[in-house]
Amino acid sequence: MVYELHGTIHQNFCQKCGRLFGLDYIMNSKGVPHCDKCGGVIKPNVVLYEEALDEDTIGRSINAIMTCDMLIIVGTSLRVYPAAGFIRYFKGRYVVVINKDNTPYDSNCDLVFNEDVVSVVKNLK
Ligand SMILES: [Zn+2]
Repeated sequence: MVYELHGTIHQNFCQKCGRLFGLDYIMNSKGVPHCDKCGGVIKPNVVLYEEALDEDTIGRSINAIMTCDMLIIVGTSLRVYPAAGFIRYFKGRYVVVINKDNTPYDSNCDLVFNEDVVSVVKNLK
């Protein structure tokens, strides 16, 4: 299961009427995308700077971390909160970090790959 803490560009909505649009509609728009029903501006369902993360998604993410046996952390410096703090909810056995640069938690992990994420993940079997 994937919980998209920062949202997704695959879901978009009219800021005026709430109508939903897929990525195809956005990609086929010229300039700022507008709603075909009311003319409102369409915004991707992503969390921008200074916007709050979705509370339900946070809860589901923390619950998944609390109940898994192995936590694999990929492509994050673990320096940006609140997501960086989610690791403290982990009660399982193994923590693996895959990130090009080191993180503050590397010394507490069972396995650390400070390498290019794509090259490491490609070799996972
Ligand atoms: Zn609209």
